[in-house]
Amino acid sequence: MTWQWFSPTRIIFGSEAVMQGSDFLKAAGNRTLIVTGKGGSARRNGSLEDICRVLDQQSIHWELFAEVEANPGIDTIRKGAQAARSSQADFIIGIGGGSPLDAAKAIAILAVNDISNQDLFDLRFRRVLPIVALPTTAGTGSEVTPYSIITYPEVENKKSIASPLIAPVLALNDPKYTEGLPLEVTLDTAVDAFTHVFEGYLSLKHSILSDRVAGEALCILGKELRNLAEGILPDSDSRSRLLYASTLAGMVISQTYTSIPHALGYCLTYFKDVSHGRANGLITPVFARFNLQNSDDPRTMEAIQIAGFATLEEFSSVFAALTGNPPECSEEELDHFADIASQVKNAANNVVIPDRKDIREMFRQSLKK
Ligand code: NAP
Ligand code: FE
Repeated sequence: MTWQWFSPTRIIFGSEAVMQGSDFLKAAGNRTLIVTGKGGSARRNGSLEDICRVLDQQSIHWELFAEVEANPGIDTIRKGAQAARSSQADFIIGIGGGSPLDAAKAIAILAVNDISNQDLFDLRFRRVLPIVALPTTAGTGSEVTPYSIITYPEVENKKSIASPLIAPVLALNDPKYTEGLPLEVTLDTAVDAFTHVFEGYLSLKHSILSDRVAGEALCILGKELRNLAEGILPDSDSRSRLLYASTLAGMVISQTYTSIPHALGYCLTYFKDVSHGRANGLITPVFARFNLQNSDDPRTMEAIQIAGFATLEEFSSVFAALTGNPPECSEEELDHFADIASQVKNAANNVVIPDRKDIREMFRQSLKK
C-alpha cells in the first residue's frame, strides 16, 4: 500500500469560526487585502463585517478589493494584485464562492511576482503571500485546495494554476454564511462538490485514504442532491453538512485532481456561460456511462451506490432534474469544444483515458438530447 496526502490548511469549522481564527489571522501579518465578489453577497451575509471586526480588534490594517466576477478573468487578477501591492498587504483574505477564493490565490502570487501570464500558469514563482479563505458557497472546496481556476481568453478556456504554495493557510468555514444562498446557487455548487468526489473516487490517483474521505462526502452529497432535485431548500443542518462535504471534497481533489466532467465543463462555462457546477453536472451522467462501457473497473458503480443511487438510470434522472436542459449547441461548436477540451490535462486522471473522438461523443450525448 503506498499513498501520499497533502492538506496543509488549518480548518476552523462551525459557528463563530471567524472569531476562533482571530489569533491565526494576527499570525498571518499586520496588513491585508480582502478580496470579495462584485455582487455584494459578502456584505449581505455578514461575513465581511465579521472579519473586519476581528481584524480591527487585532489592529490588522485592511483594504477591500470587491471587484471579482464569476469565473474570474486574468485582468481582474492583475487589478487585484496592483491593489495588494499598493496596500502593502502581508497576506490576502478571500471571502465568497470559488470565484473570489481563486482570485485571492492568484492575487497572492502576482502581488509578489512581476511575471507574465504564461509564467503564472507555468508556475514560475517561488514565493506567495499567505492566503486565508472564507467560503460562502458549499461547493468548490477552494478553501483547502492548491488550485486557482482563471478564465484565460488566450486559450479560449479556463486554466488552472496548481501549486502547493497557494493552498490557504487558514480556512474559516462557518455554514451560517451559506444560509441565504438562493436555490440555484445552492444546487449548482452542491453538484460541483459531488463531481469533485465522484471524479476523485474514479481518479487514477485515488488512495485508500482519499476513498474513505470521498465515501463520506458521496454519502452526504448524494442525499442532499436528491432533496435539492425535489426543490427542497436546505435547512441549517443540511447547510452545515453541505459545507462539511464540500470541504472534504476539496481535500480529495487536492490529492486526486478532477477529471472528465471538469475538463469538458470548462468549455460550457467559457462559451455558453453555464455556471461551473451545472456545467459539470450536465456531463456527469454521460461520463459515468462512458466509464461503465469502457472499463470493467467496479468503482464507477460503487461510487454511484455509495451515493445512494440504485442504478445509473436513477443517478442520471436526478442529475437531469438538477441541471435542467443543456444549452443549444451546433455541430461546429461540438467540434470546437472537443478540440479545446482535449488540451485539458486532467481528463487523463480518469480510469479510462478518453481520446478526442470520445470527448466529442461525450459532449454530443450530454448536449444533444
Ligand atoms: P461564485 O462564482 O464564487 O459565486 C456565484 C454567485 O453566488 C455570485 O453571484 C456570488 O455573489 C453569489 N454568492 C456567493 N456566496 C453567496 C451567499 N452566501 N449568498 C448569496 N449569494 C452568494 O460560485 P462558485 O460556484 O462558488 O465558484 C465557482 C468558481 O470556482 C469557478 O470559477 C470554478 O472554476 C472555481 N472552482 C475552483 C476550485 C478550486 O479548487 N479552486 C474547485 C471548483 C471550482 P458575489 O458576486 O457577491 O460573490
Ligand atoms: Fe469544481
